[in-house]
Amino acid sequence: MPLHRLNRLLDDEGLGLSNLGDIDRQTVSGAISTGTHGTGRALGGLATQVRQLQVVLGDGSVVTCSATERPELFNNARVGLGALGVVTAVTLQAEPEFALHAQERPMRLPLVLAELDELVAGNDHFEFFWFPHTDQTLTKCNNRLPGGAPTVPLARRRAFIQDEL
Ligand SMILES: Cc1cc2nc3c(=O)[nH]c(=O)nc-3n(C[C@H](O)[C@H](O)[C@H](O)COP(=O)(O)OP(=O)(O)OC[C@H]3O[C@@H](n4cnc5c(N)ncnc54)[C@H](O)[C@@H]3O)c2cc1C
Repeated sequence: MPLHRLNRLLDDEGLGLSNLGDIDRQTVSGAISTGTHGTGRALGGLATQVRQLQVVLGDGSVVTCSATERPELFNNARVGLGALGVVTAVTLQAEPEFALHAQERPMRLPLVLAELDELVAGNDHFEFFWFPHTDQTLTKCNNRLPGGAPTVPLARRRAFIQDEL
């Protein structure tokens, strides 16, 4: 199941995953198996949200594992690159859905590097993209809004221009 389908199903239940990467096209198993991560000083990657796995091992046996059941297999298979078997079912920890306030702006690389600790500490999620051969970056700060806070999504035309174009 790709993440974008899972996210829609979770949304129908008023739930969401705590931390995701930049895109949602990956499969749940592929993203977990490769250690796919988002940003955030206090949040782990997708693999840290896994609570149980069902794995088909090399000998064809089907086993489940978790922090308490076969913990060694669980800890290794979570970011296992398929080396320990095929993941056939995943139990993921979700949480009540939340909104993020996104601020994206250009910043010069020397300033980003000088202020990196503060930028990381001062935001739930901070990341930047550096444009090679320049000292320009595009920074992204995402911060959780309190529950029930009004949201102001970008208009479709503006979202297209800013995100796609
Ligand atoms: C545009 C883009 C943006 C990205 N952004 C981010 C990001 O923000 N953060 C980040 O961390 N990564 C990011 N990635 C990397 C991406 O999350 C990983 O490459 C991810 O593995 C892709 O998932 P997939 O479903 O395509 O995996 P696949 O290519 O299908 O699988 C990857 C590997 O996972 C293992 N695997 C897959 N399914 C199973 C299974 N059922 N059982 C056991 N092993 C399995 C295999 O070893 C396989 O080779 C990005 C990639 C792209 C292309």
